[in-house]
Amino acid sequence: MDDTLSYCETVIIGAGASGVFAAISEKLHHPKHSIAIFEKTTKSLAKVKISGGGRCNVTHACFDPKELCSFYPRGKHQLVNSFFQFYTEDIIHWFESKNVKLKTEEDGRIFPVSNQSQTIIDCFMKQLTEDQTKIRFQYELNKIQLQNNQFELQFSNQRKILCTKLILSCGGYPKLSQYHFLQELGIAIQTPVASLFTFNIPNSEFRGLEGISVESVEIKTNLSKQSNTGPLLFTHWGLSGPGVIKLSSILARELAEANYSYEVVLNFLPAQKENDFFESLKIQKQKQAKSKLKQILPNSLATRLKTRLLELIKLDGEKNLADCSFDELRQLCSILFECRLKCNGKTSFKEEFVICGGVDLSEINLKTMESKKIHNLFFTGEMMDVDGFTGGFNFQHAWTSAWIAGKQG
Ligand SMILES: Cc1cc2nc3c(=O)[nH]c(=O)nc-3n(C[C@H](O)[C@H](O)[C@H](O)COP(=O)(O)OP(=O)(O)OC[C@H]3O[C@@H](n4cnc5c(N)ncnc54)[C@H](O)[C@@H]3O)c2cc1C
Repeated sequence: MDDTLSYCETVIIGAGASGVFAAISEKLHHPKHSIAIFEKTTKSLAKVKISGGGRCNVTHACFDPKELCSFYPRGKHQLVNSFFQFYTEDIIHWFESKNVKLKTEEDGRIFPVSNQSQTIIDCFMKQLTEDQTKIRFQYELNKIQLQNNQFELQFSNQRKILCTKLILSCGGYPKLSQYHFLQELGIAIQTPVASLFTFNIPNSEFRGLEGISVESVEIKTNLSKQSNTGPLLFTHWGLSGPGVIKLSSILARELAEANYSYEVVLNFLPAQKENDFFESLKIQKQKQAKSKLKQILPNSLATRLKTRLLELIKLDGEKNLADCSFDELRQLCSILFECRLKCNGKTSFKEEFVICGGVDLSEINLKTMESKKIHNLFFTGEMMDVDGFTGGFNFQHAWTSAWIAGKQG
């Protein structure tokens, strides 16, 4: 398409993961359509480049579409049909068919064998070149007008383009006002908030323990009954680790509504019951009277963490068990099973963060990704109110929705 041409059959807005893959799917399913991608910046696939710490975690080794849904706090009840159409196995086969070798890591994350996101970018760009699909840079979509079964698109560079099929692959916007061109069409938007972040604890009781981790901690907040059990990492700004990041996704809305000011509650012994532990301490007090307090704390906790926990309840680790009162043992149980910390603020998790919110799923026919209100208007990727945990799930949804949107029409 050259600059003077103002009509294109299919227009895709956004040259990110889902926009580029939608263009590839569109070309495969409709080889005769004229297709163009319009991108507001000067770069394509910018997030793919930095994704997965520069390695691009393309998907996850989960091969049951129903199970796959459970990794999406937003979308888990609606995505199953989409995944039955195109899911993890399909994108793996697609990459393999393009000679991109993938590998699965122990935790299920799938990366290119090269460990370089550039491999994925090169593969997509090669396909676009073969398909003769062009990306127009510095075209920021500003307004969509409907005209006799066509879309008139207005860009901030004053250009206008007409198209018959429109695929919006704009990613997640942090502010509601940025969805204005959709709200003007009467499309409902779920207010965007952050997901996949770490917890800030100003003046944390655990300062100085940066770098110490605990393999399995049950983490919850005072805002909800929902909890998550997983690895916890103390950082210089507060708490991080997979357990925290997953909880930030599960509670993305609740934490935003509380303006990120809440109490986090840690249970350092999630496999045990507090009362049973207390009873076992009482028995040890009789049978191992000479044991020191610091010796009876679980081995799953680092020595410095044990010391800090005892300091917080003002107990001397050198004290013999026999000399501890029941009250003191109760306090010890409390800090181990219900350690409360005041959180204020969040820090984005640099490996992967996403927007929770976007186009309300009730607006979209998820079998086709088409708008229920406007014929031939499609949505893909993070622009939709779908987001997943870390592990390749966000890209998987980008590929799935893009493949389906490209197939239609
Ligand atoms: C640091 C980081 C690491 C990540 N790592 C992983 C990972 O390893 N695995 C994983 O599964 N997920 C990862 N994610 C999440 C993943 O990158 C996104 O979920 C995914 O990129 C979404 O694809 P998308 O096409 O919907 O949006 P994007 O990739 O964000 O692309 C949207 C594109 O649209 C353009 N655009 C926006 N508005 C307009 C407009 N009005 N006009 C024209 N163009 C517009 C944008 O400039 C952008 O190029 C990571 C995210 C981050 C931030």
